Amino acid sequence: MNQPTSPIIGIDLGTTNSVVAALLGGKVQVLEEQGEAILPSVVGLTLDDKLIVGTTAKNQLAAFPERTISSVKRQMGQAIKVKLADQEFSPQEISAIILRRLRQRAETVLGVEVTRAVITVPAFFDEDQRQATREAGTLAGLTVERIINEPTAASLVYHAGESARRHLIVYDLGGGTFDVSIVRVEDGVIEVLSSKGDTQLGGDDFDQLLTKHVADIFLTQHGVDLMSQSTTRWRLIQACERAKCELSFHGVTQVAEEFIATVDGQPVNLDVEIARGEYETLIAPLIEQTIACVDQAIRDSGLTVSQLDELILVGGSTRTPLVQNRLREEFQRDPQWSVNPDLAVALGAATQAAMQDGQAVGPVLIDIATHTLGIEALTGSPFNPELKFVPILRRNSPLPAKYDEVFSTVTEDQDTVNFRVYQGESDQLSRNRLIGNFLLQGLNESDQADGEILVQFELTLDGILKVTATERKTGLSKGIKIDNALSQMEQEGSQHSFNRLEEMFGASDELMGLGEVVEAASFGEIEEEPDIHIHRADSASRPASKLAQLVTRARALAGSLSGDDAQDVERLLDSITQAEQRGDDAALGNLESELDDLLFYLDA
Ligand code: AMP
Repeated sequence: MNQPTSPIIGIDLGTTNSVVAALLGGKVQVLEEQGEAILPSVVGLTLDDKLIVGTTAKNQLAAFPERTISSVKRQMGQAIKVKLADQEFSPQEISAIILRRLRQRAETVLGVEVTRAVITVPAFFDEDQRQATREAGTLAGLTVERIINEPTAASLVYHAGESARRHLIVYDLGGGTFDVSIVRVEDGVIEVLSSKGDTQLGGDDFDQLLTKHVADIFLTQHGVDLMSQSTTRWRLIQACERAKCELSFHGVTQVAEEFIATVDGQPVNLDVEIARGEYETLIAPLIEQTIACVDQAIRDSGLTVSQLDELILVGGSTRTPLVQNRLREEFQRDPQWSVNPDLAVALGAATQAAMQDGQAVGPVLIDIATHTLGIEALTGSPFNPELKFVPILRRNSPLPAKYDEVFSTVTEDQDTVNFRVYQGESDQLSRNRLIGNFLLQGLNESDQADGEILVQFELTLDGILKVTATERKTGLSKGIKIDNALSQMEQEGSQHSFNRLEEMFGASDELMGLGEVVEAASFGEIEEEPDIHIHRADSASRPASKLAQLVTRARALAGSLSGDDAQDVERLLDSITQAEQRGDDAALGNLESELDDLLFYLDA
């Protein structure tokens, strides 16, 4: 029997994690081992001097730091030795151990001997660092066919073999490093025009900030400093990393660990709730640093923002919604992250490897949400709310996808919310398509109710969208299933034209009438109910303050008042808006009592 020929594999040799991929069954794929795609770039020696690589080594990092090496990529190209227990190794040797492990994985999955590889390096790596990477490959028994830049690999995943000229921003935020490159793709050639980065900025820093925040809360609650002992500190860091990842998909999460400390001889659990807004406040300054780097890279490339066609996200930390939202805001582009951002570089390396091997490969195609889905809600300051489209499941999200966000009722005694589900890319409701609605009734009927509602969107590969709203404290829940959410999107063109006309003609009665008919006819299920809104919950507005609720009541009442009463309400609402804009808390306190008294008098 003929021995199959050895394929060239593609390797992303990362600072935190490494991944191997290859052409398998005509498709570029990541090679997994026991369901694991990622191999932590960690090497260790057990107490009986056995060599361990990957997750096992990562697990012993906290307990035996002197017997474990992580992030060796930072030392590549330096003429130094790193210590592992009582032995010394060059950085290349440690990298070679990781590469050898990946090679073994590839041989197991492919069932053939593997001797050739394409390996990726950061665009900023100098010649010494590239040479050290080549040497590591050789030590691992691999002929390094090509060293390619990580942003080049990421671009190949999306644009292999394309001839049209495109300029891309490749934004790569991993565990320990950040870099951004401006890349030109033309006639199948990919060229890095400029690169900028920070080798000491990544998801690990986000973990640290969240860890400190939770440790401070625990110290206040129980008088115990979890950071003072290495075992509790390590458990806390791991719990915070899990919570951080959860916050990419959920509006709120728990940082929880059982029996983490002892107080007065009694075991105490860690159980702290963190809302996404609270976490985002912590990491916002770091995200701004990355945005400044992107600005610099664009300047260095000699291009302007308007000349850039696409924004590609790479690295696990780019799943952070704040990262995506800031980039969207800054560069007016919808980021492209449909290929798993942890795996994109390895897939690109394997694409290059396959092309090198003379195989025909195109871009890696996967299923994505082709439009953004969300609901109508009040946003902005509680004193001056605006009814907007609030995205929950973004365009380009890989499918199947499941995301949730926390909202709050507008008033304390509100017992119903009308959820209107929209599809579209504008924050203006009138520019998007209404694709369904449902009522959640019976809120606040239990003592436990607190007005917080979790709204979850789940979109399957078949385009079935499930939207569920759940009152957090009581579990009261209602939802809607929209079977053809994706095919409805095809009709978007005509709806957009309609909406544009609607805007141009100032929403005349005639057009408004047509709009309702179109929407009702398309979906048949839209329940025309009075506007019973919810408010997007963020750290500043959750739950709605007493003043915000008074303002909502006053606004509702204002239309039915006349004469002095109407003027008094108007004057007070104006003063509240101004005090809020000035950030004058003392004035807001006085105005709150004044409005409370006035409403009491008007209600009587
Ligand atoms: P990489 O170096 O590309 O493998 O990225 C690793 C980093 O991505 C680590 O800091 C992870 O905690 C982070 N990460 C992985 N998944 C998520 C997620 N869902 N949300 C936010 N960060 C994540």
